[in-house]
Amino acid sequence: MTDLITSIVINAAIVCAGIIGMEFFVIAFHRYVMHGVLWRIHHTHHAPTKHPLELNDVFVAFFMSIAFTLLLVGGFTSWTFLVGVGVAIYGTAYFVMHDMIIHKRFLRQPLPTNRYLQAVYRMHMAHHRHVTNDTGEAYGMFLVLPRYWQRTSAS
Ligand SMILES: [Zn+2]
Ligand SMILES: [Zn+2]
Repeated sequence: MTDLITSIVINAAIVCAGIIGMEFFVIAFHRYVMHGVLWRIHHTHHAPTKHPLELNDVFVAFFMSIAFTLLLVGGFTSWTFLVGVGVAIYGTAYFVMHDMIIHKRFLRQPLPTNRYLQAVYRMHMAHHRHVTNDTGEAYGMFLVLPRYWQRTSAS
């Protein structure tokens, strides 16, 4: 019985590591790749558009391919599968938060008054104020830096 509990705790910890690790991977990838060599693709997300699709959406496919690769590469009993579950959970949460709640894709609700959601929104709007690739801030999504919790700081 304790073996079962131990393995559940270890498996859950690996999934959590996948989720948390993705936030840091995204911060680095967004900062140095999307705002670096692939800025030509990502700038379509920083420019206002009326079109429902952006070239930037190829990154959704890219992150999905990472999740699928991890899910499939080692089989269901491998640690890579568990990391893949974490990546898939993170990717889904990112899409709901970034695309649906913040940018109102497929969702027309006003932003909830929840303090955390407001802070995430404020931080991401601060990121969007930058329209060139060399200056910027707030490349993450869920880890809200302290200064964005203040209502007066931005947005
Ligand atoms: Zn950006
Ligand atoms: Zn955005």
